[in-house]
Amino acid sequence: MLLPLSHTNSDPIISLRQEGAKICLMSPEQLRNKFPWINTEGVALASYGLEGEGWFDPWCLLQGLRRKVQSMGVIICQGEVTRFVSSLDCMKDVDGEEVTLKRIYEVHVKMNQSLEYQPVECAVVINAAGAWSGQVAALAGIGQGPPGTLKGTKLPVEPRKRYVYSWHCPQGPGLEAPLLVDTSGAYFRRDGLGHNYLGGCSPSEEEEPDPGDLEVDHDFFHHKVWPPLAQRIPVFEALKVQRAWAGYYDYNTFDQNGVVGPHPLVTNMYFATGFSGHGLQQAPAVGRAVAELVLNGQFQTINLNAFTFDRFFLGVKTEEFNII
Ligand SMILES: Cc1cc2nc3c(=O)[nH]c(=O)nc-3n(C[C@H](O)[C@H](O)[C@H](O)COP(=O)(O)OP(=O)(O)OC[C@H]3O[C@@H](n4cnc5c(N)ncnc54)[C@H](O)[C@@H]3O)c2cc1C
Repeated sequence: MLLPLSHTNSDPIISLRQEGAKICLMSPEQLRNKFPWINTEGVALASYGLEGEGWFDPWCLLQGLRRKVQSMGVIICQGEVTRFVSSLDCMKDVDGEEVTLKRIYEVHVKMNQSLEYQPVECAVVINAAGAWSGQVAALAGIGQGPPGTLKGTKLPVEPRKRYVYSWHCPQGPGLEAPLLVDTSGAYFRRDGLGHNYLGGCSPSEEEEPDPGDLEVDHDFFHHKVWPPLAQRIPVFEALKVQRAWAGYYDYNTFDQNGVVGPHPLVTNMYFATGFSGHGLQQAPAVGRAVAELVLNGQFQTINLNAFTFDRFFLGVKTEEFNII
């Protein structure tokens, strides 16, 4: 991954290097020498990943994981969760305040093409409903209390529409091209060996498109994606868009980062959601972390306490930079 930066603050990159990531920092001149097709105007520094990076087909990964867990005895049932049935336990906290803890013991699952639901008994519920996990949390009463209280704190995850455009450009950088995230936020990478590329850009908060449908806005490419990419890689002036699609980010409006771990009041609902555009790469680690919580009651391999639900009530953000 190549990140041209408009500033010289290398602290986030240095902390990644301290964690073992093989990343080098390049001056604009070094950048020009390595990638002569890049216009370095406005670039103060660049970060370039040297190993352990790449891209993969998410659908293949998902199918591979499904088949593996099925081979290990997991039963997969497809339907829509429409209701949780819970038991309540009232107690007092250290200040003598009444606290009601909830435990879900039954989930109603509406089967596809049917008005019927199946009641499913459960000991643990993992809310991994992606862009819709805020709605699923609300079904369990999460966020339905007085404002400013833990009970009234919502899971701040909602669908946000994002576009990916695919283009052809025979003059493009070809095999040389890493995933590049421009100073403008526009990104692209090579797609196969036939001079095809794909990329996009996240809209600003004011430009957020209506998530009510998955129509692609082609003007967004012409006004927000193409101009900065053609400025950075001048041969992209000649590109021809071939296709485009839209999907939903499971967008955490609080700090654009994942939510992992149990809810403090609905004690057997665990979250694995809110990844805001970087959930695929984190999925294997999050899966392991949630399994450790359920089986052993604590994170073991990686401490993910910074990602728990409590931060929404406490107002403590877990922010990350240089994400798209
Ligand atoms: C355009 C685009 C580009 C992206 N690029 C990257 C990238 O480069 N790298 C990266 O790491 N990530 C990327 N992401 C993000 C990544 O795709 C998501 O973070 C990831 O797919 C989230 O996986 P998930 O399993 O948590 O949720 P999902 O894959 O959304 O799965 C949630 C599931 O829950 C189901 N569900 C919802 N409500 C209910 C209900 N009531 N009952 C039962 N089931 C329900 C849904 O049908 C769905 O199957 C991108 C996303 C988009 C849209």
